[in-house]
Amino acid sequence: METRKGIAVSPGVAIAPAIVLDSEQFRIPRRVIEPAEVEPELARFQGAVERAREEIRELRERVAADIGEKLGAIFDVQDALLGDPSVIDEIRELVQRERYAPEYAVSQILKGYAKKVLALPNRYMSERVADVWDVEKRLLRNLIGAKRESLHQLTEPVIVIAHDLTPSQTAGLDPSKVLAFATDIGGRTSHTTIVARAMGIPAVVGLQNVTADLSGGDTVIVDGNRGLVVIEPDAPTITRFREAEQRFHRMEEELGHLKDLPATTTDGHEVLLWGNIEFPHEVQTCMNRGASGIGLYRTEFLYLDRDVEPSEEDHYQAYAEAIEACKGRPITIRTCDLGADKFTHLSGDYDERNPFLGCRSIRFSLQHIAAFKRQLRAILRASALGAVRIMFPLITNLKELRQAKMLLADVREDLEEEGIHVDAGIKVGMMIEVPSAAIMVRRFIGECDFFSIGTNDLTQYVLAVDRTNERVAGMYTPGHPAVLRMIRMVTDTARDAGIEVAVCGEMAGEPNYALVLLGLGIQIFSVSSATLLEIKKVIRSVTMDQAKEVCEKVFQFDSDREVDAYLAEITRRLLPELVV
Ligand code: PEP
Ligand code: MG
Repeated sequence: METRKGIAVSPGVAIAPAIVLDSEQFRIPRRVIEPAEVEPELARFQGAVERAREEIRELRERVAADIGEKLGAIFDVQDALLGDPSVIDEIRELVQRERYAPEYAVSQILKGYAKKVLALPNRYMSERVADVWDVEKRLLRNLIGAKRESLHQLTEPVIVIAHDLTPSQTAGLDPSKVLAFATDIGGRTSHTTIVARAMGIPAVVGLQNVTADLSGGDTVIVDGNRGLVVIEPDAPTITRFREAEQRFHRMEEELGHLKDLPATTTDGHEVLLWGNIEFPHEVQTCMNRGASGIGLYRTEFLYLDRDVEPSEEDHYQAYAEAIEACKGRPITIRTCDLGADKFTHLSGDYDERNPFLGCRSIRFSLQHIAAFKRQLRAILRASALGAVRIMFPLITNLKELRQAKMLLADVREDLEEEGIHVDAGIKVGMMIEVPSAAIMVRRFIGECDFFSIGTNDLTQYVLAVDRTNERVAGMYTPGHPAVLRMIRMVTDTARDAGIEVAVCGEMAGEPNYALVLLGLGIQIFSVSSATLLEIKKVIRSVTMDQAKEVCEKVFQFDSDREVDAYLAEITRRLLPELVV
């Protein structure tokens, strides 16, 4: 049994056999073969080794001829590994002794080697681990080849273990079969984890090399509340985690009674609690958990599984479905936030060096006017069906907001000329998720109807910490005094100007921070469906004065460590029932 600590990103506890995907998303089951199959399987393995060695030698020659002998020689290490009789014998022995299929034996033995290489003190040597993984991948490709299985064919519940999952892969998981997932890399607010939360799949990310420690079929526990992964747990541990799983479900059930109650503090101050969605069907989930509107519809998820641009009709149909499910409640449709870690296959012909600082979001939309106008037309057409609000992401300067609004006005004029009805009073807002917008917030007053603070991006841009990078995850916290001050700049200005201000970043869905946001005067908390009830509980458990006191105290600290420690303590005190 081994316990690993990662980043808790999606709540819940699950216990099931693992399915391990390598970086090419191979699925490697622990398949046991019949005694009569041993010899043919060993021959198949031998064939795969020979083909892999041929490929490596061809590659070596090509690289040596094109780039130089020195670089070609890099592949000698891989050739030597496959030519090493002791490595090959170890794999053969596992097939003979345990009667494992060669795919599983290859991944077991080579993972063992990778671990040993990684543990070498010499950095140059430990970096050679890439060669071991490369050889594993090449062998598996030759063994599994066209027979690759997909996660769509699962018949039993599993826990997916992967180096990484993209937001689209995550969205494609079947929650009735995939009980949880754990990955080597990733951060708390990467879009993969946001999707996991929306789908209610417990997840732990940033485990560094959990894929090297697990094999398909191993029993594993994923605790998405505490960020723990337990490999091959013993019976008492399984019992302990099953109890934790039940406690989590009990807490969820108990919170269920809050669903139809208002989000009002104990002294009668009411805020709005809205949901964040990626897909129209999530509106219902949010409403079932007591959301009174949708504060963020991430429309870029319309690009999921598509190689071509969605048509105006594709946009319209999705919005119409979401609006209908809202039954007259407000819905904030955000224009596409493409680029960075989302749907980059459509976002350009080249890889950007710094995608989070590149042509993403509104910048991308303003460089692809035809596609942007198609989306704006669909939103305006759909506005006749309900209480639609439109929101522009990643606004950095006034010019961008004005350009976006000008295009919106053009589209509106076209539609009116065509005799198509558009909601005349549609509210237009902008996200504040870039420091320049927060610093210049006063200049945006009078230019739009509402602000929504995107703390996921604001945190990464204020602190210069990539929100998806587990290596700096410890530095990524909205509790940093600089982030809090930036948020306060926005809330103070918005209050003075009487403009609505919401928070739709993940910070609003974390009980500790929700207290601070309440004290700062946030009027709309827009959170993922998974956290709606918890946040309602927070709001309904305190007075406004208490929230303001917490806020005042927090602004006296100099470091995120002090802020986070204080908030953890105060939440434990005020809301002990939320600690699972
Ligand atoms: C944010 O940045 O806080 C936000 C809500 O937008 P996204 O997570 O989609 O980037
Ligand atoms: Mg954002």
